Amino acid sequence: MLRLLVEDPQALAEVAREALTVLHFDPETGKDLAEDGHRACYECLLSYTNQLEAHLLDRFQVRDFLRELCAARVSLLSGRRTREEQYKWLTERLDPRSSLEKEFLDLLYQKGYRLPDEAQFGIKEPRCVVDFFYEPNVCIFCDGPPHDQLAQQKRDDILRKKLRFKGYRVIIIRYDRDLEELIKAYPDVFGRGEC
Ligand SMILES: [Zn+2]
Repeated sequence: MLRLLVEDPQALAEVAREALTVLHFDPETGKDLAEDGHRACYECLLSYTNQLEAHLLDRFQVRDFLRELCAARVSLLSGRRTREEQYKWLTERLDPRSSLEKEFLDLLYQKGYRLPDEAQFGIKEPRCVVDFFYEPNVCIFCDGPPHDQLAQQKRDDILRKKLRFKGYRVIIIRYDRDLEELIKAYPDVFGRGEC
């Protein structure tokens, strides 16, 4: 079990989501779905073996922690990876719904640009998951066509302003722009590639 949790970067988040569901919380929003606001019941925390401690059990105590774990991605710190290893490692962490992420990463790799340190990287404040991350503070967003919808644009704008306010640098990779031109605009992040 532990091995599974460590080797699959998403596994811990899935366990946390399941735990939230059992505790009557909506894993997406953290909203309490129990109508009576109870702290523990026989469907969630109570069992016949912990009856005596029932007054200590309170599902609200773990809600925030579990929600943070939902955004967590586990990675093994096994020293520096080679460029090939890093590329493979990142590829395994891409959002499967976004072909732009793959296209962007492949281009960085093939043309000798600097590879990101992280993919699907969870940030606590403001809470979000960025597509790619370069240490110490560069957030890369790959915006495919769904990001052209007005409602999504508004959400994106708000989040990205918050990130900048917190000192993150935000770089947007858009599907309708020339990818390599975008990359070349930030040599301090992506390097100069193999000329
Ligand atoms: Zn309950």
